[in-house]
Amino acid sequence: MIERRKTRQIKVGNVPIGGDAPIVVQSMTSTKTRDVEKTLLQIEDLHRAGCEIVRVAVPHEEDVLALEEIVKKSPIPVIADIHFAPSYAFRAMEAGTHGIRINPGNIGKEEVVREIVEEARLRGVAVRIGVNSGSLEKDLLEKYGYPKAEALAESALRWSEKFEKWGFSNFKVSIKGSDVLENVRANTIFASETDIPLHIGITEAGWGNKGMIKSAVGIGILLYRGIGDTVRVSLTDDPVVEVETAYEILKSLGLRRKGIEIVACPTCGRIEVDLPKVIDEVEASLRHVDKPLKVAIMGCVVNAIGEAREADIGLACGKGFAWIFKEGKPIRKVDEKEMGKELLSEIEKMV
Ligand code: SF4
Repeated sequence: MIERRKTRQIKVGNVPIGGDAPIVVQSMTSTKTRDVEKTLLQIEDLHRAGCEIVRVAVPHEEDVLALEEIVKKSPIPVIADIHFAPSYAFRAMEAGTHGIRINPGNIGKEEVVREIVEEARLRGVAVRIGVNSGSLEKDLLEKYGYPKAEALAESALRWSEKFEKWGFSNFKVSIKGSDVLENVRANTIFASETDIPLHIGITEAGWGNKGMIKSAVGIGILLYRGIGDTVRVSLTDDPVVEVETAYEILKSLGLRRKGIEIVACPTCGRIEVDLPKVIDEVEASLRHVDKPLKVAIMGCVVNAIGEAREADIGLACGKGFAWIFKEGKPIRKVDEKEMGKELLSEIEKMV
């Protein structure tokens, strides 16, 4: 069991973050926010995939104008992502967003940051302080030479102290860089100094397997150290994939249980069936399932008995047939051609 760092709890809309709340999965829309219809459709997709909070970019006037309707119709809390234009932060809060994400380094004057924080306090809006290696304050760059972990952590601590001095505590922090080790170090330094909830992720991780692996390594190390109250996997991909990847990382560390978890053997020369086909069939048919269920799909009986014992349901393949196991016991033998369908029908009974 991973022992999570003890953090204070904040709320983004009705979603608690930190304290004893589960680690929250969030993502960001990739549509133009001003296209309300497309943005809401994507938010629906994200929500169906398990996304619990969604962030939308607010770079232009038209995007600010779209916020009110998006917030009203979104099934999950909405965070407005604000850079360079402080007036949009005030207008986003006026439009009802549940949270705003600001990078104080990009807002400019401290008095303006303070005014935003004061408005958030009055409206009960959560704030994320986002510190990024690409927009570190000048004095910290001069002190450290480059955006190393110590510089990023110092920037986050500095702004956190200011927020607290201004009497505001409904905030979380993210410290993100694209270098995995610096990112891990910066978050670890920050976590050792405060109980402020942390939003973790590897920024600009990239696309496909490479992005997923980089994210899984960086986020996984932090989670293993008990650090992280909410997660966003940043991929150059459909944001639904970000949410699915985040859940896979959390499930693999036993930090969330959601939907089907498939345990499958890697296959080897003993195999007599087309196992990837069965896995694809089962996975595709069970995307809608939210109930946590561990399904073992094994190529032969060598490890099947052991794995099936650990799983809620399992399939052990042989030549031309397969055994279906439930709660560790074989329940029936099925023909190879029917095994995917038969396993699915047993799973459907369970969910
Ligand atoms: S379960 Fe059987 S087929 Fe799969 S890797 Fe192990 S020995 Fe090979």
